[in-house]
Amino acid sequence: MVTQVERDDTTWHTCEACGLMFDIEDEAKEHEKRCNSDEPNYIQ
Ligand SMILES: [Zn+2]
Repeated sequence: MVTQVERDDTTWHTCEACGLMFDIEDEAKEHEKRCNSDEPNYIQ
């Protein structure tokens, strides 16, 4: 899941699975879909 963290007056969206931080919520959510996927078939 994506959690929000405020730092330096910026809200960061952190992927809990791997710890990556994004400043754009949509990017975090898109990442999370792929990060949590255990079907890596489409990543060649
Ligand atoms: Zn991740």
